[in-house]
Formats: sequence, C-alpha cells, structure tokens
Amino acid sequence: MSHLSKLGNRISIPIKPDEDGFTGRECPHSDCEGYFKIELGTGLEGRDLPCHCPYCGHTAAHDHFWTKEQVKYVESVVTREITEAIHRDLKEMEFNVEPKGPFGIGLSLTFKPEGPLPIRHYREKQLETEVVCTSCTLRYSIYGVFAFCPDCGQHNSLQIFEKNIEVVAKMMDLAESTERDVSRRLVENGLEDCVSVFDGFARELCRVYTRSATNRAIVGRISFQDLEGAKRRLRRAYGINLSSALTACEWQSLVRAFQRRHLIAHRMGVVDQAYLAKAADREAVVGRRIHIEPDEVRDLLQLVGKVAQGLSIAFDELGEPDS
Ligand SMILES: [Zn+2]
Ligand SMILES: [Zn+2]
Repeated sequence: MSHLSKLGNRISIPIKPDEDGFTGRECPHSDCEGYFKIELGTGLEGRDLPCHCPYCGHTAAHDHFWTKEQVKYVESVVTREITEAIHRDLKEMEFNVEPKGPFGIGLSLTFKPEGPLPIRHYREKQLETEVVCTSCTLRYSIYGVFAFCPDCGQHNSLQIFEKNIEVVAKMMDLAESTERDVSRRLVENGLEDCVSVFDGFARELCRVYTRSATNRAIVGRISFQDLEGAKRRLRRAYGINLSSALTACEWQSLVRAFQRRHLIAHRMGVVDQAYLAKAADREAVVGRRIHIEPDEVRDLLQLVGKVAQGLSIAFDELGEPDS
C-alpha cells in the first residue's frame, strides 16, 4: 500500500485551545465575520447543536464557525502530510541501472524533494469580556460587553448589568472604610456608575429589540439617564411601562436619585432650579451642595435592579430579539 493511500480520505487535524482553554470562532455571515472564543465542553450538551454569533445572532452549524487562520492552518498541515506521503512514494520508486558493456546505457531515477512545506501557525486573539452564561453555563469571550450566548442564544444584558451593579455595591463598602474625601468621591462615582450601567443596559435591550418597536425612529434616541423622558419614549416605542416593577413612591425616589446624579455630573453637586422642579427633594436648597450617603446608593441599586429585571422580562415577552 502506498504512503498516500495509507492516509485514506479523511485526515483529522486537532485544533488546540489557547492557554485559557478557549477555541477561536468566526461568524460566517459576510456582514459580520465577528471573532469570539468559546470553551468547548462547557454549555449545552448534545449532538449537532447550532452555534449563535454573539454579535449579530447569525445561527449555523458549528463547523461553519472556523476562523480563517484555523482553516489556513489545517490546509497547510494537510498539504504537508499529502506532499510528504507523495515524496515517500516517489522515493521508493527510485532506481539506478549501471551501464553494462562499452555501449550500455545507464538509467536512474532519484527524487530530491525541497524542504518541508511551511505550517501556517496561528495564535488566538485576546478579547475584552469573558462571560459564563447564566442559562447554559457556556464559557465564552467577546469583544465589547454585550452579546448573545453562542450556545443557547440568550442575550447577556441582564447578566452584565448585575455584574456591574455588584461592583458599585463593593465601592459602597469601601467608602465606609476610608477617609472622608475619598469616601465622598467613591459614593458619588458609585451613583454615576449605577446610572450609566442602567443606561447602557436599557439602550442595549432597545437595540436588540429594534424590530419589535412600533416606532423605530425613536429607539436609538432613548436616554435612560432621564427616567421620566425614557418612560414616555419607551411606552411610545414598545408599549412597555418602565416603572411597572416599582410602587409610585419607589419610582419617585429612583427619579430623584437619577436627578442627583445629573447634579453631580454637570453642576458639581450644587442644587439648581431645574433640580428642584424635577426631583421633588424637600431638603434641597438652591446654591447648596447635595450630600449622598452610601445607603442612598445601596437603595438605588435595589430599585434599579428591580426595574432592570422588569424591563428584561417585558422585552422578552415581545418575542425573539433581532438577529
Ligand atoms: Zn455575526
Ligand atoms: Zn447560554
């Protein structure tokens, strides 16, 4: 049997995971071609499960998600194995017939192959956010922050929100055990972070449910830093009530906390008329600085968490996200 036929018609080339256990993947959709990584063996179990692109939601069989570098590597390994088998076969066909007698003709066949063909080695890229899916436990890694789980397709917006909110809670613990100036800064930053995290989360939900909106034109323009405005627009765009998870009193204190964030971010915390008009804060005096305690931020975390969960459920009920 020749060396070539010994190779058979199937050559299996293992693709090794990187040092963190991740295997690179690339979306086959030509508009996306997004790169991400997954840890094989975590997540859903079963045969022939589809893979979802974490960025665009495109769904196809796993073997459509090889990266260009992995394909080039496999091609180079296969080409080398085949060429080497052919070389060995040709080597075995070498012969040398010495000329016999004064008029004899000598014949020889020698095969001198050039060096081995190069292997196109590759390195998986470093990405920005590592996620363990709360729904199917798949470990995956992506550019940016928000994504669909490549195994079960669940969007990670609520998970990312909760992870960031935990950090703000830790900042409040830290604020209570440090000197006054640093503590004040930590508490104010915590308040700002809480609002930005919620804004980022809610905007992302709107983005992935754009097609479900009855008024798509306003979807990208909803700022969740202004809660009353967001509530009006969200109702117009999706028919969703932003405050449905809270009592009227809770909603009012959430609105006040968001207005206090506005003062911190844009007025160095000094009360102005606009704040008085919007925040319903009886203790505030124009021209004076507001003071925020860690517990106020902790209460805000609770309230904003309830609203985020309610919002996540409300969007889920609209149907499938865009992909
Ligand atoms: Zn994609
Ligand atoms: Zn999942």
